[in-house]
Amino acid sequence: MAEEKSLNFIEEIVEEDLKSGKYKEIMTRFPPEPNGYLHMGHAKSICLNFGLAEKYGGATNLRFDDTNPVKEDVEYVDSIKQDVQWLGFQWKNEYYASDYFDTLYGYAVKLIKKGLAYVDDSTAEQIAAGKGTPTTPGTDSPYRNRTIEENLQLFEEMKAGKYKDGEKVLRAKIDMAAINMHMRDPLMYRIKHAHHHRTGDAWCIYPMYDFAHGQSDSIEEITHSVCTLEFIPHRELYNWFIEKLDIFPSHQYEFARLNMTYTMMSKRKLLQLVNEKVVDGWDDPRMPTISAMRRRGFTPESIREFCSRIGIAKRDNLIDLGLLEFCVREHLNRIAERRMVVFDPIKVVLTNLPEDYSEILDGENNPEAEVETFRKIPFSREIYIEREDFMENAPSKYFRMTPGKMVRLKSAYIVQCDSVDKDEDGNILQVNCSIIPDSKSGGENAGIKVKGTIHWVNVKDAVKAEIRLYDRLFTEANLDEAEGDFHDYINPESLIVKEAYIEPALKEAASKDHYQFIRTGYFILDSKDSTPEKLVFNRTVTLKDSWAKELKKM
Ligand code: ATP
Ligand code: MG
Repeated sequence: MAEEKSLNFIEEIVEEDLKSGKYKEIMTRFPPEPNGYLHMGHAKSICLNFGLAEKYGGATNLRFDDTNPVKEDVEYVDSIKQDVQWLGFQWKNEYYASDYFDTLYGYAVKLIKKGLAYVDDSTAEQIAAGKGTPTTPGTDSPYRNRTIEENLQLFEEMKAGKYKDGEKVLRAKIDMAAINMHMRDPLMYRIKHAHHHRTGDAWCIYPMYDFAHGQSDSIEEITHSVCTLEFIPHRELYNWFIEKLDIFPSHQYEFARLNMTYTMMSKRKLLQLVNEKVVDGWDDPRMPTISAMRRRGFTPESIREFCSRIGIAKRDNLIDLGLLEFCVREHLNRIAERRMVVFDPIKVVLTNLPEDYSEILDGENNPEAEVETFRKIPFSREIYIEREDFMENAPSKYFRMTPGKMVRLKSAYIVQCDSVDKDEDGNILQVNCSIIPDSKSGGENAGIKVKGTIHWVNVKDAVKAEIRLYDRLFTEANLDEAEGDFHDYINPESLIVKEAYIEPALKEAASKDHYQFIRTGYFILDSKDSTPEKLVFNRTVTLKDSWAKELKKM
């Protein structure tokens, strides 16, 4: 059951605004730049924006912030849409900032006409030098006092393609001595002769973030525009443009971005991992992208639960990756069917069964499920167990298989371990056991007290599969503060590939099914590389948090 949670500060604002009648309905947006795949940080923003609209009966737009023609791509647009839907959200409208290029151009003209914008011929270096410093005012550009007519003509020529990249920019005319550096005549448009993935070659001038974002919010009548803390200094400018243009008054609110231990959360750096082939693509299951987490077997429910648990903060913080894994485990424990898989087999022969003995057992799929369901597990005279579940000379507290003691085979019989056969070098050839008749669950001898239960697979029906054991990509918890750069902290054991014997029921696995390999962890069929001839499974997460101790040391 979900706990009753107190409101976060943005919810408080929304409730206030609805109560006071400021808005009848709220409107939010999720505004990704289509220059990479979405990561966990975006998931937090998605849950917040769509979550607000869901909770208060409003709606959310998906808006592609595609004002930078060079880095953007349709591949990214498609993946972003898939990821948002997979997380369980549906947008009201799909918009593109580039749809507003005409309107934005009109807004710029309006500001020029009001004497609030001018064309500047200064170079980027001159503009930077003229900005001043936080403690000294900037200096006015020599082009600052051009006439409105001249500005209108030059801006039109910029649009018409008369100038080269960087030759001219359009700037807002605000105050070169403003305390807030963002208010010192910020750039509104720059010239870029580049092909845009949607508008093609129609434009060679592109609006800057500050002139596109707030205006796009306003065009869509976004009531609550939430972004991350680094945009606080932009808010004054956001409001200035809206006020001077006299358009719908959207408001910007800032929350702390998600940072997680052992995780790099910047599209730019993630792209570097892809390009340098540190990982095998954006959806390599070790990546913090939503597509990677889907492929790895994380569920949308667990990601949403995680986002809800971490809440919305006003200060930057570092969230323990272990909490996300905890949420994943908790959900998978409820929904994952149990299966038996043996990684490092030794053969066990049940010597009191006939050579051709064969039985089909019922294995319970999930003891946590509300409705009991079962799968068929073939059982015969020879089975594999995990090498580490057998010990020849065991201490008295050893409860797995050892000569002279009994152990239960999961979903099957109790067996008595009798002896072990070895070759000349002492390697184990096989372990000999005898089954206790009628010791299956519900049988006459089922009540015999045994302390251990071990998993197994039937030798005859075991299927070989590739198992990819994923672990954290980095060995360093706080990558932002660590010395050197992320290359110094790549975990060499972030992927270990093994072969294992899986029980035959797993041949039916589909890439949406989650499994618990008993006593090992949670797994999912790999959606890319698995074939019916060669099944490949990804480890989603181990059963227990093996990094918990590391974290305590921090
Ligand atoms: P990156 O720095 O990884 O490229 P970004 O902020 O540039 O991220 P955008 O595509 O511009 O990526 O972001 C879309 C939305 O997601 C924005 O509203 C942004 O604030 C939000 N967002 C991005 N990263 C995080 C994060 N780590 N935590 C919370 N929200 C985030
Ligand atoms: Mg960005």
